[in-house]
Amino acid sequence: MLSQKEIEELNNHFENREPLEVLRWGVQKFYPRIALACSLQAEDIVILDMMNQVVDKPIIFVIDTGRLNQETYNLIDELRTKYPKTEIRIYFPDKEEVEDMVNRYGVNLFYKSVEFRKLCCEIRKVKPLQRALKGLDAWITGLRREQNVTRTKIKKIEVDQVNGGIIKINPLADWTWEQVWDYIKRNNLPYNKLYDMGYKSIGCEPCTRAVKSWEHPRAGRWWWEQSGDKECGLHFRER
Ligand code: SF4
Repeated sequence: MLSQKEIEELNNHFENREPLEVLRWGVQKFYPRIALACSLQAEDIVILDMMNQVVDKPIIFVIDTGRLNQETYNLIDELRTKYPKTEIRIYFPDKEEVEDMVNRYGVNLFYKSVEFRKLCCEIRKVKPLQRALKGLDAWITGLRREQNVTRTKIKKIEVDQVNGGIIKINPLADWTWEQVWDYIKRNNLPYNKLYDMGYKSIGCEPCTRAVKSWEHPRAGRWWWEQSGDKECGLHFRER
């Protein structure tokens, strides 16, 4: 679709450009086979708002793992009201796979071992993501370099080798937490109320907690695990 050389040239071009320019390029090239992966985090709301500035009917998708917080569901409804032209596609995990998993290992299996936690993420998140990406040539994410040690080298435009070689666009790669919230406040955007309760990263209810001001923003994700490079597998997978 795009050669490695073209990707490099695009990244050189966009590295110091505004996210809106990156999104405009992505939409012009790929729409309607491009969508935002929206996990209802602050970054996603910024991108959704920008998408509504560059295309009439943006497409976003949400993976409803079945274990999200009520605050997160409330935000989905708010977004439907604020952005009525946006197509919001919601994907659920396969019910038989979930039934089989919880019948075998328990409904709270993720606390028992890293392997069970990864199994749950695979069934509830990764497989629905694969369905969501079917038929797309590109997807957009809210990944930022400062979010995690696994993310420091992300580019604004990448070939997603983890998900079939489609294009992955990270328009906020070089933005800071402060820039994200400045945009939300300045534009009076809806946001996930979990942030008001001390959350710095949004995930599933049983696997995410609020963090102290001195803790790393992702310290609240799978906090019982020791590793500093915890990921759910949506963006980075062990090979
Ligand atoms: Fe399951 Fe927790 Fe992963 Fe959500 S974050 S899919 S509940 S292990």
